[in-house]
Amino acid sequence: MEKIAAYLEEVKKIAIAGHVNPDGDCIGSCMGMYLYLTENYPELDVDVFLEEPKEVFSFLKDFDKIRTGHEENASYDLMILLDISSRDRVGVVGDLIDSAGKVLCLDHHRTNEGAYTWFYNDPEASSTAEVVYRFLDPEKISEKCAEALYMGIAHDTGIFQYQNCSPETMCVAAELMKKGIPHSWIIDRTYYQKTYEENQILGRALIESFLFFGGKVIVSVVRERTMKFFGVTPKDMDGIVSQLRNTIGVEVAVFLYETDWLEYKVSMRSKDYVDVSRVAAVFGGGGHARAAGCTIQGMHRDVINAIAKELDLQFREHDEAVKRQEKNDEEDG
Ligand code: AMP
Ligand code: MN
Ligand code: MN
Repeated sequence: MEKIAAYLEEVKKIAIAGHVNPDGDCIGSCMGMYLYLTENYPELDVDVFLEEPKEVFSFLKDFDKIRTGHEENASYDLMILLDISSRDRVGVVGDLIDSAGKVLCLDHHRTNEGAYTWFYNDPEASSTAEVVYRFLDPEKISEKCAEALYMGIAHDTGIFQYQNCSPETMCVAAELMKKGIPHSWIIDRTYYQKTYEENQILGRALIESFLFFGGKVIVSVVRERTMKFFGVTPKDMDGIVSQLRNTIGVEVAVFLYETDWLEYKVSMRSKDYVDVSRVAAVFGGGGHARAAGCTIQGMHRDVINAIAKELDLQFREHDEAVKRQEKNDEEDG
């Protein structure tokens, strides 16, 4: 792995892009990379592409430079794809990948299959922002760039809480903090604060949730008519699945919202042992062991049953593994 400078030889036009429906890590990684390149390499012509990000991210420097569409005959010497999880999830400029001179993809999704000019995927990394940091010269990171990367790390670790948060993650966050960023404000403003509508739909999803598998699984569904009633869009429902996961005794939280007639976006989170990326992969989605997603067609009851079948498989595997371990312990002891 070389620093980003090594990838810029004979390159003039660069496009940076992330995944559809961009989250904090995706936006933080893309804007961190954009600011680093534009601040340190003014001779380069750099564009950043993202689907319309939420207003809470507008504090980031150059937020107004984000492009939500590209010119018809656009082409780039280098495309930098960040946090995409798979090639078909690149937002806005997905159709330009094939014509790009070179493609550098930095990611932390086990399910990313690669096939780019350069591919650095570290499923052990907390976030793509942490991976991006490794490619930058720490001395050339400005306070504004640090804000973006710190935000990415904070969001994907559930504010330094999840199992993906390592000593290395904390060291990177500390280095970014030393740049003088308003770290506490960033977390409060972009992660915890919610609009009235966001809180309302969260409340509704919690009230309507139900437990099964003896309380190991919690599920909640939001129909399109409910979203309309509360005046919310998918962006306003980001935090619901993690709140469901906070329920004591729950191993897996499943949150579904209707995206179309007989179509649901599924978000899954697990706590200790279920690999939800395996479940998502069965339905053509992906993600991480403890956070994954997919889109499934069908009536919501059928969608839940199909997911339940996959979860059942993993619960059985887990029970068997526990039994084997107990037997071994008995024999050893
Ligand atoms: P979500 O629940 O949509 O926030 O997604 C959780 C994680 O899974 C994120 O890291 C996503 O990038 C990833 N993910 C979600 N949906 C998909 C999908 N359809 N294909 C691949 N990865 C996905
Ligand atoms: Mn992401
Ligand atoms: Mn990520």
